Amino acid sequence: MKLRRKLFSSKDPYDFSKAEIFLDACRENYDHLITHCDDYKKISEGLGIRSSKDINRPSDIPVIPTMLMKQHDFRSGRYMVMATSSGTSGKMSHVRFEFGALMAALKMSIKVTRYHGIMTAKPCRYIVMGYKPHRSNKTAVAKTAYLTTFLAPAISRKFILKHTSDGYKPDFESIVEALKKYEKGRAPVRFMGFPSYTFFLFRLLEERGLSFKLPKGSKVMLGGGWKQFYQEAADKDTFYKLAKKTLDIDEENIVEFFGAVEHPILYTDCAFHHFHVPVYSNIVIRDPDTLEPLENGQTGLVNLISPLCTATPILSVMTDDLGILHDGSECPCGVKSPYLEIVGRVAPEDIKTCAAGAADILKGVKV
Ligand SMILES: [Zn+2]
Repeated sequence: MKLRRKLFSSKDPYDFSKAEIFLDACRENYDHLITHCDDYKKISEGLGIRSSKDINRPSDIPVIPTMLMKQHDFRSGRYMVMATSSGTSGKMSHVRFEFGALMAALKMSIKVTRYHGIMTAKPCRYIVMGYKPHRSNKTAVAKTAYLTTFLAPAISRKFILKHTSDGYKPDFESIVEALKKYEKGRAPVRFMGFPSYTFFLFRLLEERGLSFKLPKGSKVMLGGGWKQFYQEAADKDTFYKLAKKTLDIDEENIVEFFGAVEHPILYTDCAFHHFHVPVYSNIVIRDPDTLEPLENGQTGLVNLISPLCTATPILSVMTDDLGILHDGSECPCGVKSPYLEIVGRVAPEDIKTCAAGAADILKGVKV
């Protein structure tokens, strides 16, 4: 996977001029997939693509819907690590990563987090608003939240979701106690995890009239999606205001990540909270009826493309998200690559996302 190595070694994670290397790395990945996965070969031939020579642009790459991955376990080579999407067993995607994919993911994470100033040498305290690692939990959400606690040296790690004999339970009181202690210290505090739990904590602090002045450099990092906030765009502003009011954290110190187990690319929002597409991936927005690619600015199904992995055929996956791709020039941050706005889901009542799952747990919590 020479071309993958070249692509993931790009110096600038948002260098728009890498389109040619990206397409070549996708062709290289495609050639591996059709010789290592009969299912993918059949899907590809069914779509009239017989060799990588038939691929002239990223949108030509045969697509696998994530819905299908939840029902069928696709494999395309040896692997070292497996991650699953959230969901009940039998309805999860299984994504396997080989050594080369892990190395590419590591290079990408270092470049992207450095670019956004998240990777630093200053030690800090982590509060993970998500799962405490446990051998029974193989979800990518748990793994990535834990991995982010290595982006700056950790003095301590606290997790809100504790594994009990009845499954995972949130422990807000221990977080409030920890904040009282951390406020007096000098080490920055970093929150990482689900926006839902973080938002819930802010509201709890506000209701109790508690506010903290966390040490300089403290950050709120969010991952796992805003899905339950889709209908209320104003909630993001409320969220930023509450972060300032309860923890004295400014909006510029709130960073959000976006990714999916079937598309393990690290999207990080810019200063204007836009998810620009990095060099490691491409996004095609498709017409929900004809599946034809749409122009930037139009709403359609989100198709995510990346040659990161060879052990699972996730080169081009079709999500059930509806989104819009905007021209990079519409954002004043200076990054030229387009950015993705997720606007909803195709069938929200049918699909339980990891964020919605977390929201379900919240319902059982008394404050
Ligand atoms: Zn921007």
